[in-house]
Amino acid sequence: MSTLWLKNPSAIHLGAETPSDIAAGGLVVDTSAGTIVEVVAAGGTPIDPPDQTFDASAYVVTPGLVNTHHHFYQTLTRAWPPVANSKLFDWLVTLYPVWARLDAEAVRLATTVAMAELLESGCTTTADHHYLFPHGTDVSIDVQVEVARELGMRAVLTRGSMNLGEADGGLPPQHTVQDPEAILADSERLVRTYHERGEGARIQIALAPCSPFSVSTTLMAESAALAEELDVRLHTHLAETRDEEDYCLQHFGMRTVDYLESVGWLTDRTWVAHGIHFDDGEIARLGAAGTAVAHCPSSNMRLASGIARAVELQDAGAPVGIGVDGSASNDSSNMVREVRQALYVQRLRYGAEAVTTGRALDWATTGSAAALGRTDIGTLRVGGQADLALFRPEGLAFSGSHDPLTALLLCGAERADRVMVAGDWRVVDSRVVGLDTEALVARHSQAARGLVAG
Ligand code: ZN
Repeated sequence: MSTLWLKNPSAIHLGAETPSDIAAGGLVVDTSAGTIVEVVAAGGTPIDPPDQTFDASAYVVTPGLVNTHHHFYQTLTRAWPPVANSKLFDWLVTLYPVWARLDAEAVRLATTVAMAELLESGCTTTADHHYLFPHGTDVSIDVQVEVARELGMRAVLTRGSMNLGEADGGLPPQHTVQDPEAILADSERLVRTYHERGEGARIQIALAPCSPFSVSTTLMAESAALAEELDVRLHTHLAETRDEEDYCLQHFGMRTVDYLESVGWLTDRTWVAHGIHFDDGEIARLGAAGTAVAHCPSSNMRLASGIARAVELQDAGAPVGIGVDGSASNDSSNMVREVRQALYVQRLRYGAEAVTTGRALDWATTGSAAALGRTDIGTLRVGGQADLALFRPEGLAFSGSHDPLTALLLCGAERADRVMVAGDWRVVDSRVVGLDTEALVARHSQAARGLVAG
């Protein structure tokens, strides 16, 4: 065992409504096991002398932020003029043919950019929803696993899918969809090859048919059955827009939650992205089932999709996490900024008193972890994973601020100074360790230009 004492942080947020004063003296991390072994009270010292001490007095410490929804490949189509002012369905129909030109190298570059950006914003675990596999990119998820391992980030990579093209009444062009047999066989291959189970899992795989308007009901039901058999999680987009609701009423004769239930997805194995247009009865049913929601505030504002009923969902029992969503609808992978967006947009719906900074932070940590079916991350506690974000609230933006923890969100922190994943520093001085960012940006920008040029 090798121990590191993060000594006397200026503030600490443990999560899960645990009072922070029990850890005012900091945390002791076993860097070999990657876990937290002790919380130190104010003025205290660790029970056993630590091997190393890190002076954390200039830092605010939070659990590593957990991102529950993304499409990494979309970093290649950020701020693209033809869709800069579009709503979801028009945005998708214009972008599908561009994304259909992806190749494996573009997926690698896009994944690296998104993960690095997330890490530097304090995120230690991220989900991704990859559902496009044009020619030669059937290895996309394998590539994402490699990148996650290189960067030392935890990832829940979802094997997305689309099988309902325009010819069958779906939204995506026919050449972007796959047949269900290939989808299910590849899903099973990925789970059997990469999915880790239990505490401390670094790579997990989930099954993720894309949305009601791009996947057949048969594939939804078969994916649920396969997820049950393999014991992995289920993810999809749901209730993002009124157009989607209309689509469900027209094609299935039912609303989105009825549709979810009809295909065997209304369970605690599922987390859905967005979850905006639910009525009171649907919120109660989602809560009773324990179906989680990835709240993606920036994307929802960018596409003017609506405001998720996050507080009511959480109060009903549905875990609520935060997602940055794909970079073509945000267009940023900045997780700490996303927490601020959630705080403010939810205040518009529920008022300032109901949505505290602590509640918003809990969505992005404990709540997000629960949405991914995890209890070993998202909260700082003895025995939990040593996944931490350390922010330095200093400079012009923070000058004159009083409470350092509240200031993270109210003054608008942009980047973490240090980030630890499983006891290992992955970000130091706001830079991902070992990554040549400038070279990456040059290659990624070139790939992005090539993709839209066709
Ligand atoms: Zn999405």
